[in-house]
Formats: sequence, structure tokens, C-alpha cells
Amino acid sequence: MQHLKIDNLHVSIGDREILRGLNLDLPTGQVHAIMGPNGSGKSTLAKVIAGHPDYTVTSGDVLFDGESILEMEPDVRARKGIFLAFQYPSEIPGVTIANFLRAALQARLPEGEELEATEYYAKLYEKMDLLEMPRTFTSRAVNEGFSGGEKKRCEILQMAMLQPTFALLDETDSGLDIDALKIVSHGVNSLRGPATGMLVITHYQRLLNYIVPDVVHVMVNGRIVESGTKELALKLEAEGYDWANEPESEAVGA
Ligand code: ADP
Ligand code: MG
Repeated sequence: MQHLKIDNLHVSIGDREILRGLNLDLPTGQVHAIMGPNGSGKSTLAKVIAGHPDYTVTSGDVLFDGESILEMEPDVRARKGIFLAFQYPSEIPGVTIANFLRAALQARLPEGEELEATEYYAKLYEKMDLLEMPRTFTSRAVNEGFSGGEKKRCEILQMAMLQPTFALLDETDSGLDIDALKIVSHGVNSLRGPATGMLVITHYQRLLNYIVPDVVHVMVNGRIVESGTKELALKLEAEGYDWANEPESEAVGA
């Protein structure tokens, strides 16, 4: 079993602190969900783990099996097995999906080793079938002119091809209609297993009906304020996040 551990993480952008002492332990073999209101820092957490350069870690650590990854470049982290499916995937004009994924897989092979084309396409088509993506997608530029749902499917296709050790899915459900949500969830569920840990970030409980998490964390104001079983997600659905907010005026007249 491997662990992705977030240890008392403090992160700022400019002079504003966004993550304020966040702790999390994600082992392989488990799916953890993070739920929280908009602006609580969920995407920031995902991007900091992946190595986004905009954010400054002021204290704390991110450990991949006990080793700090904070000094590692994003591509080094990716080759170690960290994958981030973006909330807002970028378009890469001029680069086809087939060439993009081929380059990504090639980059992980040792020097001098060549990706075998027949095997590569067999795997690509298998994963596309799983996600019910038409073959014509392979020759389209990455995310260019894609609908919201197509972009999210493309992110999951990348994950399926790269088979990461730790996958971070940032609001993969947003922009999906119910049929696409089922297909994407089916794809994600098929990648669950003892060698993979997943962090599923979502604003809504709906996704968790399809991707059933082992642990649910509630994030408010840059911290995990509660962790529990999947029933916690139902409580959030029913009661919203207000109960989890830090009371700011409790001292007054209390
Ligand atoms: P969530 O994903 O939970 O909605 P985010 O991590 O996207 O939250 O954002 C947390 C807070 O940090 C928000 O107030 C947001 O405006 C701010 N923030 C995030 N990224 C940036 C950035 N690149 N520049 C300025 N502020 C940012
Ligand atoms: Mg977000």
C-alpha cells in the first residue's frame, strides 16, 4: 500500500492564505471524496499536489509514500504516478488526442525504449470504448471545440491510459448530463483497484451515488472540518455547509 499524505499544508496566493493547515491521508485502494462550498480551496489543493506554479506553500508538506514532492517539477510528479483531471481542461490546438496520449505514455518509458504502436492503439481503443467515445475523437485536437462533457471524458481517457497511482478528479461531474455522468463514473469505477488511490472533488452529492467513496471529507475555508463515511455526503446534501462553517460571532452574547 502507498500513501499520499498532506501534512498541515498552508498555501497562499499573493498575500492571501487559501489552505490553512490541511491534513489528509489517501492510501492506494481507496476512494476519498472532498466536498465543500465554492471557494473553499478544493481546486487549490488539487493543483498544489500536481505542482501548479501559481501557489506558494508556506508550511507543511505533501508526501508520496513518505517522500516530499514539493520540490519536484510537475512532470516528475506525473511520472511518479500523480494525475490531475482538471476542473477546467485546457485546449491544445494542433495536437491530436492520439499524439498527445502517445507522447504522454512515451515520456514515462525508460530512455531508448519505444512505445509499441499496435499495443498503444489497442489500449487507446479499449479505453475509448469503455468511455463510449467515438473513434473519430483520436484525430481531433485535444479539447478544441469540445463540449463540457467531452472535455471531462477526455480527462478520464487520459487517466485510463496513464493508470496513475494517485488520481485527483476535480469536479469531473460538472458539465455532465446524467448519461455522461454514468459513463464517466463507469470509467472511473473500472480503474478502482488495490494499486490506485483516488481523490474525487465535488460540489454535489450526486456524483457519489455513482462513485461510492470509502471516506468523505468536508472542506471549508481551506481546512478539512469533518471526515466520515459516505453518509456524511447525504447530510451535506440535506443540510448544506452552514453547520460546518466556523462560527464568527459565537462569542458575541453566547
Ligand atoms: P474551490 O475549488 O473550492 O471552489 P479554489 O481552490 O478554486 O476553490 O479557490 C479558493 C480561493 O482561492 C478562491 O477565493 C479563489 O478566488 C482563490 N484563488 C484560487 N486560485 C487563484 C489564483 N490563481 N489567483 C487568485 N486567487 C485564486
Ligand atoms: Mg474548484
